[in-house]
Amino acid sequence: MATTDTDLIIAGGGLAGATLALALSRAVPELRVTVVESFPLSPDAVPEDYQPSYDSRSTALAWGSRLIFEELGLWQRLSEHATPIEHIHVSDRGRFGATRLNASDHSQPALGYVADNRWLGLCLMRELLATGVQWLAPAEVVDMTPQPGGVGVSIKEGGDLRTLTAQCLVVADGGRSGLREKLGFQVRQQSYGQNALIANVSTGESHQFTAFERFTSAGPMALLPHGSPRRAGNQSALVWTLTDEALAEVLSLSDAGKCQRLQERFGWRLGRFNRIGECSHYPLTLTTVDEPVRAGVALVGNAAHALHPVAGQGFNLALRGLMTLVEQFRLAQSSGRSIGDLRVLRRYQEQHRQDWQQTVQFSDSLIRVFGDGSVPILAARDVGLVGLDMLPGAKRWFARKAMGTGGRRADIHGRGSSVGELSGHE
Ligand SMILES: Cc1cc2nc3c(=O)[nH]c(=O)nc-3n(C[C@H](O)[C@H](O)[C@H](O)COP(=O)(O)OP(=O)(O)OC[C@H]3O[C@@H](n4cnc5c(N)ncnc54)[C@H](O)[C@@H]3O)c2cc1C
Repeated sequence: MATTDTDLIIAGGGLAGATLALALSRAVPELRVTVVESFPLSPDAVPEDYQPSYDSRSTALAWGSRLIFEELGLWQRLSEHATPIEHIHVSDRGRFGATRLNASDHSQPALGYVADNRWLGLCLMRELLATGVQWLAPAEVVDMTPQPGGVGVSIKEGGDLRTLTAQCLVVADGGRSGLREKLGFQVRQQSYGQNALIANVSTGESHQFTAFERFTSAGPMALLPHGSPRRAGNQSALVWTLTDEALAEVLSLSDAGKCQRLQERFGWRLGRFNRIGECSHYPLTLTTVDEPVRAGVALVGNAAHALHPVAGQGFNLALRGLMTLVEQFRLAQSSGRSIGDLRVLRRYQEQHRQDWQQTVQFSDSLIRVFGDGSVPILAARDVGLVGLDMLPGAKRWFARKAMGTGGRRADIHGRGSSVGELSGHE
Protein backbone atom coordinates (compact mmCIF):
# COMPACT_ATOMS: atom_id res chain seq x y z
CA MET A 1 0.00 0.00 0.00
CA ALA A 2 1.30 3.52 -0.85
CA THR A 3 2.53 5.68 2.04
CA THR A 4 0.13 8.54 2.77
CA ASP A 5 0.06 11.53 5.20
CA THR A 6 -3.02 10.13 6.93
CA ASP A 7 -5.35 7.16 6.29
CA LEU A 8 -8.72 8.91 6.08
CA ILE A 9 -9.79 12.52 5.59
CA ILE A 10 -13.34 13.44 6.57
CA ALA A 11 -14.52 16.68 4.93
CA GLY A 12 -17.01 18.18 7.41
CA GLY A 13 -17.17 17.76 11.18
CA GLY A 14 -20.96 18.16 11.53
CA LEU A 15 -23.12 15.46 13.12
CA ALA A 16 -22.24 12.85 10.47
CA GLY A 17 -18.51 13.60 10.15
CA ALA A 18 -17.91 13.84 13.91
CA THR A 19 -19.86 10.61 14.61
CA LEU A 20 -17.91 8.75 11.92
CA ALA A 21 -14.59 9.94 13.40
CA LEU A 22 -15.63 8.84 16.89
CA ALA A 23 -16.90 5.45 15.70
CA LEU A 24 -13.64 4.82 13.84
CA SER A 25 -11.58 5.76 16.89
CA ARG A 26 -13.52 3.07 18.80
CA ALA A 27 -13.65 0.36 16.13
CA VAL A 28 -10.38 0.80 14.19
CA PRO A 29 -8.12 2.78 16.57
CA GLU A 30 -5.03 2.14 14.46
CA LEU A 31 -6.56 4.09 11.53
CA ARG A 32 -5.20 7.66 11.27
CA VAL A 33 -8.23 9.94 10.86
CA THR A 34 -8.17 13.68 10.02
CA VAL A 35 -11.36 15.75 10.19
CA VAL A 36 -11.43 19.04 8.27
CA GLU A 37 -14.17 21.43 9.42
CA SER A 38 -14.89 24.95 8.16
CA PHE A 39 -16.12 26.24 11.52
CA PRO A 40 -13.70 26.86 14.39
CA LEU A 41 -13.65 24.27 17.17
CA SER A 42 -16.18 25.32 19.82
CA PRO A 43 -14.35 26.81 22.83
CA ASP A 44 -17.02 25.41 25.21
CA ALA A 45 -16.47 21.82 24.14
CA VAL A 46 -16.73 20.55 27.71
CA PRO A 47 -20.46 20.43 28.40
CA GLU A 48 -20.48 20.25 32.23
CA ASP A 49 -22.93 23.10 32.75
CA TYR A 50 -25.12 22.63 29.67
CA GLN A 51 -28.68 23.97 29.83
CA PRO A 52 -31.17 23.23 27.04
CA SER A 53 -31.87 26.52 25.31
CA TYR A 54 -35.29 27.82 24.35
CA ASP A 55 -34.07 28.49 20.84
CA SER A 56 -31.82 25.58 19.98
CA ARG A 57 -32.60 23.19 17.10
CA SER A 58 -33.19 19.58 18.01
CA THR A 59 -33.16 16.14 16.42
CA ALA A 60 -35.45 13.17 17.03
CA LEU A 61 -33.22 10.16 17.65
CA ALA A 62 -34.77 6.78 16.97
CA TRP A 63 -34.43 3.90 19.45
CA GLY A 64 -31.97 2.25 17.07
CA SER A 65 -29.78 5.39 17.25
CA ARG A 66 -29.71 5.13 21.03
CA LEU A 67 -28.32 1.59 20.64
CA ILE A 68 -25.62 2.89 18.30
CA PHE A 69 -24.68 5.68 20.72
CA GLU A 70 -24.57 3.11 23.54
CA GLU A 71 -22.12 1.09 21.50
CA LEU A 72 -19.99 4.21 20.99
CA GLY A 73 -19.98 4.87 24.76
CA LEU A 74 -21.77 8.18 24.28
CA TRP A 75 -25.28 7.41 25.40
CA GLN A 76 -24.89 7.85 29.13
CA ARG A 77 -23.85 11.49 28.75
CA LEU A 78 -26.21 12.16 25.84
CA SER A 79 -29.18 10.85 27.83
CA GLU A 80 -28.66 13.56 30.50
CA HIS A 81 -30.44 15.98 28.14
CA ALA A 82 -32.35 13.67 25.78
CA THR A 83 -36.13 13.80 26.24
CA PRO A 84 -37.78 10.40 25.76
CA ILE A 85 -40.61 9.93 23.25
CA GLU A 86 -42.92 7.44 24.94
CA HIS A 87 -45.85 7.88 22.58
CA ILE A 88 -46.31 8.99 18.96
CA HIS A 89 -49.66 10.42 17.97
CA VAL A 90 -50.33 10.64 14.22
CA SER A 91 -53.40 12.54 13.07
CA ASP A 92 -54.94 14.19 10.08
CA ARG A 93 -56.52 17.62 10.62
CA GLY A 94 -60.24 17.62 9.88
CA ARG A 95 -60.30 13.88 9.22
CA PHE A 96 -61.45 10.98 11.28
CA GLY A 97 -58.34 8.82 11.51
CA ALA A 98 -55.67 8.98 14.19
CA THR A 99 -53.19 6.48 15.47
CA ARG A 100 -51.12 6.22 18.62
CA LEU A 101 -47.93 4.24 19.12
CA ASN A 102 -46.77 3.42 22.65
CA ALA A 103 -43.29 2.41 23.73
CA SER A 104 -44.79 0.02 26.27
CA ASP A 105 -46.43 -1.97 23.43
CA HIS A 106 -42.90 -2.72 22.25
CA SER A 107 -41.51 -3.46 25.72
CA GLN A 108 -39.30 -0.37 25.44
CA PRO A 109 -38.85 2.60 27.79
CA ALA A 110 -39.07 4.91 24.75
CA LEU A 111 -39.71 4.89 21.00
CA GLY A 112 -36.99 7.49 20.57
CA TYR A 113 -35.51 10.66 22.08
CA VAL A 114 -35.26 14.37 21.32
CA ALA A 115 -31.85 15.98 21.76
CA ASP A 116 -30.66 19.50 21.02
CA ASN A 117 -28.22 19.52 18.09
CA ARG A 118 -25.88 21.67 20.19
CA TRP A 119 -25.90 19.11 23.00
CA LEU A 120 -25.25 16.29 20.52
CA GLY A 121 -22.34 18.27 19.08
CA LEU A 122 -20.86 19.03 22.50
CA CYS A 123 -21.05 15.39 23.60
CA LEU A 124 -19.39 14.26 20.37
CA MET A 125 -16.62 16.88 20.65
CA ARG A 126 -15.91 16.05 24.26
CA GLU A 127 -15.37 12.38 23.39
CA LEU A 128 -13.43 13.19 20.23
CA LEU A 129 -10.96 15.41 22.08
CA ALA A 130 -9.93 12.34 24.10
CA THR A 131 -9.14 10.30 20.95
CA GLY A 132 -6.26 10.42 18.49
CA VAL A 133 -8.44 11.97 15.76
CA GLN A 134 -6.76 15.02 14.19
CA TRP A 135 -9.10 18.02 13.89
CA LEU A 136 -8.27 20.81 11.41
CA ALA A 137 -10.55 23.81 12.01
CA PRO A 138 -11.28 26.30 10.69
CA ALA A 139 -10.17 24.73 7.41
CA GLU A 140 -11.89 23.70 4.21
CA VAL A 141 -11.50 20.85 1.74
CA VAL A 142 -11.54 22.50 -1.66
CA ASP A 143 -10.67 19.68 -4.06
CA MET A 144 -9.58 16.07 -4.44
CA THR A 145 -7.53 14.31 -7.11
CA PRO A 146 -7.06 10.55 -7.47
CA GLN A 147 -3.49 9.39 -6.92
CA PRO A 148 -1.85 5.97 -7.09
CA GLY A 149 -2.88 4.18 -3.87
CA GLY A 150 -5.23 6.91 -2.68
CA VAL A 151 -6.27 10.53 -3.04
CA GLY A 152 -4.68 13.97 -2.79
CA VAL A 153 -6.93 16.34 -0.85
CA SER A 154 -6.49 20.13 -1.18
CA ILE A 155 -7.11 21.91 2.10
CA LYS A 156 -7.39 25.65 2.66
CA GLU A 157 -6.38 26.67 6.16
CA GLY A 158 -5.98 30.35 6.98
CA GLY A 159 -4.49 31.81 3.81
CA ASP A 160 -2.59 28.61 2.97
CA LEU A 161 -3.46 25.89 0.51
CA ARG A 162 -1.84 22.50 1.01
CA THR A 163 -2.36 18.91 -0.11
CA LEU A 164 -2.65 15.94 2.22
CA THR A 165 -2.58 12.41 0.86
CA ALA A 166 -4.86 9.69 2.25
CA GLN A 167 -6.24 6.26 1.32
CA CYS A 168 -9.76 7.67 1.23
CA LEU A 169 -11.82 10.88 1.45
CA VAL A 170 -15.26 10.79 3.11
CA VAL A 171 -17.44 13.72 2.07
CA ALA A 172 -19.65 14.82 5.00
CA ASP A 173 -20.12 18.48 4.10
CA GLY A 174 -23.93 18.54 4.38
CA GLY A 175 -26.99 18.82 2.15
CA ARG A 176 -25.66 21.62 -0.04
CA SER A 177 -22.39 19.75 -0.46
CA GLY A 178 -20.01 21.87 -2.53
CA LEU A 179 -17.60 18.93 -2.79
CA ARG A 180 -20.24 16.57 -4.15
CA GLU A 181 -20.80 19.05 -6.97
CA LYS A 182 -17.11 19.74 -7.49
CA LEU A 183 -16.38 16.00 -7.79
CA GLY A 184 -19.24 15.52 -10.27
CA PHE A 185 -21.51 13.11 -8.33
CA GLN A 186 -24.93 12.75 -9.98
CA VAL A 187 -27.63 14.18 -7.70
CA ARG A 188 -31.39 13.72 -7.84
CA GLN A 189 -33.22 16.67 -6.38
CA GLN A 190 -36.94 17.11 -5.99
CA SER A 191 -38.40 20.17 -4.34
CA TYR A 192 -41.40 19.67 -2.05
CA GLY A 193 -42.38 23.31 -2.71
CA GLN A 194 -42.37 23.74 1.05
CA ASN A 195 -40.21 25.08 3.86
CA ALA A 196 -39.71 23.77 7.38
CA LEU A 197 -40.18 26.37 10.08
CA ILE A 198 -38.39 25.33 13.27
CA ALA A 199 -38.99 26.78 16.74
CA ASN A 200 -39.42 25.72 20.34
CA VAL A 201 -42.86 26.44 21.78
CA SER A 202 -44.45 26.32 25.21
CA THR A 203 -47.97 25.08 25.72
CA GLY A 204 -50.66 25.20 28.39
CA GLU A 205 -50.56 21.44 28.89
CA SER A 206 -47.69 19.01 29.39
CA HIS A 207 -46.53 16.97 26.38
CA GLN A 208 -46.59 13.76 28.48
CA PHE A 209 -43.57 12.62 26.45
CA THR A 210 -45.70 12.46 23.30
CA ALA A 211 -44.52 13.35 19.78
CA PHE A 212 -47.34 14.60 17.57
CA GLU A 213 -47.26 14.23 13.80
CA ARG A 214 -50.13 16.11 12.25
CA PHE A 215 -51.01 16.21 8.58
CA THR A 216 -52.97 19.22 7.39
CA SER A 217 -54.10 20.28 3.91
CA ALA A 218 -51.45 23.02 4.12
CA GLY A 219 -48.66 20.55 4.93
CA PRO A 220 -47.47 18.31 7.76
CA MET A 221 -46.23 19.44 11.16
CA ALA A 222 -44.53 17.73 14.08
CA LEU A 223 -44.30 18.67 17.77
CA LEU A 224 -41.67 16.77 19.72
CA PRO A 225 -41.36 16.65 23.52
CA HIS A 226 -38.48 18.86 24.60
CA GLY A 227 -36.82 19.96 27.85
CA SER A 228 -36.27 17.78 30.88
CA PRO A 229 -35.64 14.06 30.29
CA ARG A 230 -37.29 13.15 33.61
CA ARG A 231 -40.24 15.52 34.12
CA ALA A 232 -42.91 15.90 31.42
CA GLY A 233 -42.87 19.67 30.86
CA ASN A 234 -44.63 22.18 28.65
CA GLN A 235 -42.02 22.72 25.97
CA SER A 236 -42.10 21.11 22.53
CA ALA A 237 -39.92 21.40 19.44
CA LEU A 238 -41.94 22.41 16.39
CA VAL A 239 -41.33 21.44 12.74
CA TRP A 240 -43.99 23.18 10.64
CA THR A 241 -44.06 22.85 6.85
CA LEU A 242 -45.30 25.86 4.93
CA THR A 243 -45.36 27.00 1.31
CA ASP A 244 -43.20 30.03 0.43
CA GLU A 245 -46.23 32.30 0.60
CA ALA A 246 -47.52 30.92 3.90
CA LEU A 247 -44.02 31.08 5.41
CA ALA A 248 -43.65 34.76 4.49
CA GLU A 249 -47.03 35.46 6.04
CA VAL A 250 -46.33 33.56 9.27
CA LEU A 251 -42.92 35.23 9.64
CA SER A 252 -44.54 38.66 9.34
CA LEU A 253 -46.80 37.94 12.34
CA SER A 254 -46.07 38.89 15.95
CA ASP A 255 -45.24 36.02 18.34
CA ALA A 256 -48.86 36.08 19.58
CA GLY A 257 -50.05 35.94 15.95
CA LYS A 258 -47.75 32.99 15.22
CA CYS A 259 -49.09 31.14 18.28
CA GLN A 260 -52.63 31.77 17.15
CA ARG A 261 -51.94 30.50 13.61
CA LEU A 262 -50.28 27.44 15.11
CA GLN A 263 -53.30 26.85 17.31
CA GLU A 264 -55.58 26.91 14.25
CA ARG A 265 -53.38 24.38 12.45
CA PHE A 266 -52.58 22.06 15.34
CA GLY A 267 -55.64 22.26 17.57
CA TRP A 268 -55.83 21.98 21.35
CA ARG A 269 -54.21 18.63 22.19
CA LEU A 270 -51.43 20.50 24.03
CA GLY A 271 -53.66 23.29 25.34
CA ARG A 272 -52.92 26.91 24.45
CA PHE A 273 -49.68 27.87 22.65
CA ASN A 274 -48.24 30.49 25.02
CA ARG A 275 -44.86 31.28 23.57
CA ILE A 276 -42.80 30.68 20.46
CA GLY A 277 -38.98 30.99 20.43
CA GLU A 278 -36.68 32.13 17.65
CA CYS A 279 -37.87 30.79 14.27
CA SER A 280 -35.51 29.41 11.63
CA HIS A 281 -36.57 27.96 8.29
CA TYR A 282 -35.20 25.67 5.58
CA PRO A 283 -36.42 24.99 2.00
CA LEU A 284 -37.41 21.33 1.67
CA THR A 285 -36.06 19.12 -1.07
CA LEU A 286 -35.49 15.41 -1.33
CA THR A 287 -31.86 15.00 -2.37
CA THR A 288 -30.39 11.60 -3.12
CA VAL A 289 -27.29 10.28 -4.83
CA ASP A 290 -27.67 6.87 -6.49
CA GLU A 291 -23.93 6.14 -6.61
CA PRO A 292 -22.42 7.65 -3.45
CA VAL A 293 -19.02 5.97 -3.86
CA ARG A 294 -16.13 5.84 -6.30
CA ALA A 295 -12.53 4.71 -5.85
CA GLY A 296 -11.13 6.62 -2.88
CA VAL A 297 -14.29 8.64 -2.12
CA ALA A 298 -17.59 8.05 -0.26
CA LEU A 299 -20.46 10.43 0.50
CA VAL A 300 -22.23 10.18 3.87
CA GLY A 301 -24.89 12.03 5.88
CA ASN A 302 -26.81 14.81 4.19
CA ALA A 303 -24.26 14.91 1.36
CA ALA A 304 -25.61 11.45 0.37
CA HIS A 305 -29.30 11.94 1.24
CA ALA A 306 -31.32 14.85 2.62
CA LEU A 307 -34.92 13.98 3.53
CA HIS A 308 -38.06 15.83 4.61
CA PRO A 309 -37.62 16.43 8.36
CA VAL A 310 -41.19 15.69 9.50
CA ALA A 311 -40.64 11.95 9.72
CA GLY A 312 -37.37 12.59 11.65
CA GLN A 313 -35.35 10.07 9.65
CA GLY A 314 -32.36 11.96 8.14
CA PHE A 315 -29.73 11.70 10.85
CA ASN A 316 -30.99 8.30 12.01
CA LEU A 317 -30.52 6.91 8.50
CA ALA A 318 -27.11 8.61 8.28
CA LEU A 319 -26.02 6.96 11.55
CA ARG A 320 -26.88 3.47 10.30
CA GLY A 321 -24.95 4.17 7.08
CA LEU A 322 -21.93 5.38 9.06
CA MET A 323 -21.85 2.20 11.12
CA THR A 324 -21.97 0.13 7.92
CA LEU A 325 -19.04 2.12 6.52
CA VAL A 326 -17.07 1.71 9.76
CA GLU A 327 -17.58 -2.02 9.60
CA GLN A 328 -16.28 -2.17 6.02
CA PHE A 329 -13.25 -0.07 6.98
CA ARG A 330 -12.57 -2.40 9.92
CA LEU A 331 -12.77 -5.48 7.68
CA ALA A 332 -10.51 -3.84 5.04
CA GLN A 333 -7.96 -2.83 7.65
CA SER A 334 -7.84 -6.30 9.20
CA SER A 335 -7.31 -7.93 5.79
CA GLY A 336 -4.59 -5.48 4.72
CA ARG A 337 -6.69 -3.87 2.02
CA SER A 338 -6.83 -0.10 1.36
CA ILE A 339 -9.96 1.53 2.86
CA GLY A 340 -10.28 3.49 -0.40
CA ASP A 341 -10.46 0.31 -2.50
CA LEU A 342 -13.56 0.53 -4.69
CA ARG A 343 -14.63 -3.00 -3.65
CA VAL A 344 -14.60 -1.95 0.01
CA LEU A 345 -16.69 1.16 -0.69
CA ARG A 346 -19.09 -0.71 -3.00
CA ARG A 347 -19.69 -3.25 -0.26
CA TYR A 348 -20.67 -0.36 2.06
CA GLN A 349 -23.03 0.95 -0.62
CA GLU A 350 -24.63 -2.50 -1.15
CA GLN A 351 -25.06 -3.10 2.58
CA HIS A 352 -26.69 0.29 3.12
CA ARG A 353 -28.73 0.50 -0.11
CA GLN A 354 -31.89 -1.30 1.00
CA ASP A 355 -32.13 0.71 4.22
CA TRP A 356 -31.71 4.08 2.51
CA GLN A 357 -34.06 3.23 -0.35
CA GLN A 358 -36.78 2.09 2.07
CA THR A 359 -36.28 5.05 4.40
CA VAL A 360 -36.34 7.60 1.57
CA GLN A 361 -39.49 5.93 0.22
CA PHE A 362 -41.08 5.84 3.68
CA SER A 363 -40.59 9.53 4.48
CA ASP A 364 -41.36 10.64 0.92
CA SER A 365 -44.61 8.66 0.69
CA LEU A 366 -45.65 9.84 4.16
CA ILE A 367 -45.38 13.44 2.95
CA ARG A 368 -47.04 12.78 -0.42
CA VAL A 369 -49.95 10.65 0.82
CA PHE A 370 -50.71 12.90 3.77
CA GLY A 371 -49.98 16.12 1.89
CA ASP A 372 -52.37 15.36 -0.96
CA GLY A 373 -55.84 16.88 -0.75
CA SER A 374 -57.54 14.81 -3.47
CA VAL A 375 -60.62 12.84 -2.45
CA PRO A 376 -59.41 9.26 -3.14
CA ILE A 377 -56.21 10.02 -1.27
CA LEU A 378 -58.17 11.50 1.65
CA ALA A 379 -60.19 8.29 1.86
CA ALA A 380 -57.02 6.23 1.73
CA ARG A 381 -55.52 8.38 4.47
CA ASP A 382 -58.44 7.60 6.78
CA VAL A 383 -58.06 3.92 6.08
CA GLY A 384 -54.31 4.26 6.41
CA LEU A 385 -54.36 5.93 9.80
CA VAL A 386 -57.24 3.96 11.25
CA GLY A 387 -55.78 0.91 9.56
CA LEU A 388 -52.55 1.47 11.43
CA ASP A 389 -54.46 1.08 14.66
CA MET A 390 -56.45 -1.89 13.48
CA LEU A 391 -53.79 -3.79 11.59
CA PRO A 392 -51.01 -4.81 13.95
CA GLY A 393 -48.68 -5.64 11.04
CA ALA A 394 -48.97 -2.16 9.48
CA LYS A 395 -48.59 -0.45 12.81
CA ARG A 396 -45.54 -2.50 13.68
CA TRP A 397 -43.99 -1.58 10.34
CA PHE A 398 -44.59 2.12 11.04
CA ALA A 399 -43.20 1.74 14.56
CA ARG A 400 -40.09 -0.01 13.25
CA LYS A 401 -39.44 2.90 10.91
CA ALA A 402 -40.08 5.44 13.67
CA MET A 403 -37.79 3.54 16.04
CA GLY A 404 -35.09 3.17 13.39
CA THR A 405 -34.92 -0.56 13.88
CA GLY A 406 -35.85 -1.57 10.34
CA GLY A 407 -32.35 -1.37 8.90
CA ARG A 408 -29.20 -3.36 9.36
CA ARG A 409 -26.77 -2.53 12.08
CA ALA A 410 -23.05 -3.03 11.84
CA ASP A 411 -21.09 -4.97 14.40
CA ILE A 412 -18.35 -2.35 14.58
CA HIS A 413 -16.30 -4.22 17.13
CA GLY A 414 -16.33 -7.44 15.11
CA ARG A 415 -17.62 -9.48 18.02
CA GLY A 416 -19.90 -11.84 16.17
CA SER A 417 -21.91 -12.14 12.98
CA SER A 418 -20.84 -9.26 10.77
CA VAL A 419 -24.22 -7.62 10.30
CA GLY A 420 -27.32 -8.12 12.44
CA GLU A 421 -30.96 -7.09 12.03
CA LEU A 422 -32.10 -4.82 14.83
CA SER A 423 -35.52 -6.35 14.85
CA GLY A 424 -35.75 -7.79 18.31
CA HIS A 425 -37.60 -4.78 19.68
CA GLU A 426 -40.91 -5.02 17.91
C1 LIG B 1 -35.28 21.36 9.92
C2 LIG B 1 -34.63 20.02 10.06
C3 LIG B 1 -35.01 19.13 11.07
C4 LIG B 1 -34.42 17.86 11.17
N1 LIG B 1 -34.85 16.99 12.12
C5 LIG B 1 -34.33 15.74 12.14
C6 LIG B 1 -34.77 14.78 13.10
O1 LIG B 1 -35.62 15.07 13.94
N2 LIG B 1 -34.20 13.53 13.09
C7 LIG B 1 -33.25 13.19 12.18
O2 LIG B 1 -32.80 12.03 12.20
N3 LIG B 1 -32.80 14.08 11.28
C8 LIG B 1 -33.30 15.33 11.24
N4 LIG B 1 -32.85 16.23 10.33
C9 LIG B 1 -31.71 15.85 9.48
C10 LIG B 1 -30.39 16.09 10.20
O3 LIG B 1 -30.34 17.42 10.70
C11 LIG B 1 -29.26 15.88 9.23
O4 LIG B 1 -29.33 14.55 8.77
C12 LIG B 1 -27.90 16.08 9.86
O5 LIG B 1 -27.77 17.36 10.39
C13 LIG B 1 -26.86 15.88 8.79
O6 LIG B 1 -25.62 16.10 9.30
P1 LIG B 1 -24.38 16.23 8.30
O7 LIG B 1 -23.19 16.15 9.20
O8 LIG B 1 -24.49 15.33 7.15
O9 LIG B 1 -24.49 17.71 7.68
P2 LIG B 1 -24.30 19.10 8.40
O10 LIG B 1 -24.87 19.08 9.75
O11 LIG B 1 -24.79 20.12 7.43
O12 LIG B 1 -22.72 19.27 8.57
C14 LIG B 1 -21.86 19.55 7.49
C15 LIG B 1 -20.56 20.13 8.08
O13 LIG B 1 -19.61 20.26 7.05
C16 LIG B 1 -18.91 21.51 7.17
N5 LIG B 1 -18.41 21.83 5.83
C17 LIG B 1 -19.12 22.22 4.74
N6 LIG B 1 -18.33 22.32 3.66
C18 LIG B 1 -17.07 21.97 4.07
C19 LIG B 1 -15.81 21.87 3.41
N7 LIG B 1 -15.68 22.10 2.08
N8 LIG B 1 -14.73 21.50 4.14
C20 LIG B 1 -14.84 21.23 5.47
N9 LIG B 1 -16.02 21.32 6.14
C21 LIG B 1 -17.11 21.67 5.44
C22 LIG B 1 -19.98 22.44 7.72
O14 LIG B 1 -19.39 23.53 8.42
C23 LIG B 1 -20.74 21.52 8.67
O15 LIG B 1 -20.22 21.54 9.98
C24 LIG B 1 -33.42 17.49 10.23
C25 LIG B 1 -33.02 18.40 9.23
C26 LIG B 1 -33.63 19.65 9.12
C27 LIG B 1 -33.20 20.59 8.02
